[in-house]
Amino acid sequence: MRIIDTHCDTLYLRALHPEQAPCVTAEALRAGGVSVQTCALFAGGEGPKGHPYEKALAQLEVLERLQAEGWKTVDAPSQAQEGESAVLLSLEGGEILEDKLERVEAFRRRGARMIALTWNHENAIASPAKDGSQAGIKPFGWQVLAEMARLGMAADTSHLNERGFWDLIERHSQPPMASHSCCAALHPHFRNLTDAQIRALIERGGWIGVNFYPAFLTGGEATVADIVRHIDHIAQLGGAAYVGFGSDFDGIERTPLDCTGPQDVPRILDALRALGYPEETVRGIAGENFIAYFERLEA
Ligand SMILES: [Zn+2]
Repeated sequence: MRIIDTHCDTLYLRALHPEQAPCVTAEALRAGGVSVQTCALFAGGEGPKGHPYEKALAQLEVLERLQAEGWKTVDAPSQAQEGESAVLLSLEGGEILEDKLERVEAFRRRGARMIALTWNHENAIASPAKDGSQAGIKPFGWQVLAEMARLGMAADTSHLNERGFWDLIERHSQPPMASHSCCAALHPHFRNLTDAQIRALIERGGWIGVNFYPAFLTGGEATVADIVRHIDHIAQLGGAAYVGFGSDFDGIERTPLDCTGPQDVPRILDALRALGYPEETVRGIAGENFIAYFERLEA
């Protein structure tokens, strides 16, 4: 079975906070049987003013070091191999581009396949859910999105505000995704998706990676059962073939009690089986749904 996780901040943690021990390690990925771990180049908590491009380059250097240690990378999730772990690269926070359109292609050449248009700050592309802004995608944002579509890069709506989200649903040429987002119906939080947003992502052929952060799952402590509740909610909205994992490991200061790193991901699959999910559906949620999403994106 191929297991895919569509978001972690391990490169940022290793580059900017080397004193902290990452939970995403080669050993943990192997122990969990994770075939593809998407690793984001994160813009950083200071936003557009915090030299996000420089920070992204520092994270690429970390990735190069890891590659020298034997970490593999893939250019598409379909290259995932059972029994092997590889990294897929993404960007979190479009301010990393620092308003330079040509950097979209430059990051694509370095292997990036997804861009989360915002983190929690407004940038030249769009506005985040966090600031309550009603502003839509900006003119530079549409230029970036057209370039991303040309290069086969997924538009990631995690952190994006609602108006920007609906702009993408209505006007972007390709199906958008949410790499690490939960359900607002189960826990209201500005970072969580409403049922209308979830339905729209399903209808557009998009994809949703459920975030493992307890603050988004329950607002208090959380366990694997809570991750499964959010997955099951999306499945009940018709999204069993459009959902998977976006752990946010190494970007969250707390994890579910019984899911503290990639080694514990198989527990989620077991919990889905215990709930009566057929093996085919479990395989989809584990990774095949995300591979199918990329096929729709590239079509
Ligand atoms: Zn995030």
